[in-house]
Amino acid sequence: MVLPFKHEPLTDFNQPENVQAFEAALEKVRAELGKEYPLVINGERIFTEDKLVSVNPANKEQVVGKVSKASKALVDKAFEGANEAFRSWRKMAPETRANVLFKAAAIARRRKHELSAWLVFDAGKPWSQADGDTAEGIDFLEYYGRQMLELAKGQEMAQRENEHNTYFYQPMGPGVTIPPWNFAFAIVCGTTVAPLVAGNPVLLKPSESTPVIAYKLVEILEEAGVPKGVLQFVPGDPAEIGDYLVDHPSTHWINFTGSKATGLRIYERAAKVQKGQHFLKRVVAEMGGKDTIIVDKEADLDLAADAIVQSAFGFSGQKCSACSRAVVHEDVYEEVLEKAIALAKNVTVGDPSEENVYMGAVINEKQFNKIKSYIEIGKEEGELVFGGETNGEKGFFVYPTIFKDVYPKARIMQEEIFGPVVAFAKGKDFDELLEIANNTEYGLTGAVISKNREHLERARYEFHVGNLYFNRGCTAAVVGYQPFGGFKMSGTDSKAGGPDYLKLFMEAKSVSEMF
Ligand code: GLU
Repeated sequence: MVLPFKHEPLTDFNQPENVQAFEAALEKVRAELGKEYPLVINGERIFTEDKLVSVNPANKEQVVGKVSKASKALVDKAFEGANEAFRSWRKMAPETRANVLFKAAAIARRRKHELSAWLVFDAGKPWSQADGDTAEGIDFLEYYGRQMLELAKGQEMAQRENEHNTYFYQPMGPGVTIPPWNFAFAIVCGTTVAPLVAGNPVLLKPSESTPVIAYKLVEILEEAGVPKGVLQFVPGDPAEIGDYLVDHPSTHWINFTGSKATGLRIYERAAKVQKGQHFLKRVVAEMGGKDTIIVDKEADLDLAADAIVQSAFGFSGQKCSACSRAVVHEDVYEEVLEKAIALAKNVTVGDPSEENVYMGAVINEKQFNKIKSYIEIGKEEGELVFGGETNGEKGFFVYPTIFKDVYPKARIMQEEIFGPVVAFAKGKDFDELLEIANNTEYGLTGAVISKNREHLERARYEFHVGNLYFNRGCTAAVVGYQPFGGFKMSGTDSKAGGPDYLKLFMEAKSVSEMF
């Protein structure tokens, strides 16, 4: 018997003892910076000459760790081991596989602040964002373990005389998890352990920006009892091994979270049947977003401004779910904008490894330059009313930025920026607000701030996003409470943290026996 699922509580950093505990964890991690890490194949630690070097985004000179890089030959070796491990892992009792996840959750919970501290250095996360990331990773372990137990109960089928029908799910085979850097514990964990608990060996290729925290997860899963060969840790250069992993004839599924461009590339490549491949690959892709908060005429405007600011600037807007468009009724537009600017003034920016700030630096130079160029584009397309500054001296700092009066089809209203930049546009009535909200190629998250029940009910069916929120912000979905995934070019609508997720990595079998 397991207890019913409940999400992991977040840490209250208003409590001095929590601040102290977190500072102690940062100190502990600081003392371990700069180490070298291996890749892991069949339980064997392999150190390569060539390494991925992870730096603290807020302090470019500070090396967080150096992680070994897998070559194509090592990927082949990892697949060989995974194919071998599949034979026994698939037959292991589902309860045993679930217990591995429950134990991993217990270990992660005991090491919670330490893991969050690694996220502060490796991913540049501010404290509460890092804490949320670790908590969500624990949630995925607890939730998917329980989902496996549910699935293992099987499904009742209709029966006829002298006939016995059964229906069950079985794992597909080895596959590849390619997670993002922005939830470098939670999403790495969730997208790895879901296929794994379902009985599939996993080759995990973490993002080259955050390989150290991924290694910590691998250690935890090993300690929890994942057998050798079931989880192969193959960090590497995407240009060198990315396509190779996807194209490999032993890859049965690819679980990807990241940019639209890479997602589409994977989707296309996976469709090609390779020599020696006797099955069709499945792709689970969670891609970008261009997410909107609609503010209606009848609405709590303080709540609206708060929702916009939190959703736009939390973790510097580096979430697929981040609000990058505020579409506001013209009657309340100026007021909401003013309130949002007032709140943005309170946003603190600094090095989270030194202090508890609201926003840290953005992940790397490439993103820093990309966001900077969108700020320039924004100046052409609308009026810069707040922020717009950047500072790349010590780390990749971009300050909260607000544009107003942006044309709905402008580039900063259409293209994913993945930075702390939000554009305001106005509409004359709810029809127009909805029309603007739906006018992008993405369909991930959205929110409506309104007191008008009829409008909320219209949005329920007409606002075309996978995760829709009423009278709150559009980020921070919780595992098991708000399964997460989007429509249109946001991906395959595979709802992470939802009841259907494990089945994406399984095949259903129907067996009928005559008596
Ligand atoms: N699940 C996260 C949220 O609801 C976003 C995940 C992502 O950025 O990929 O905010």
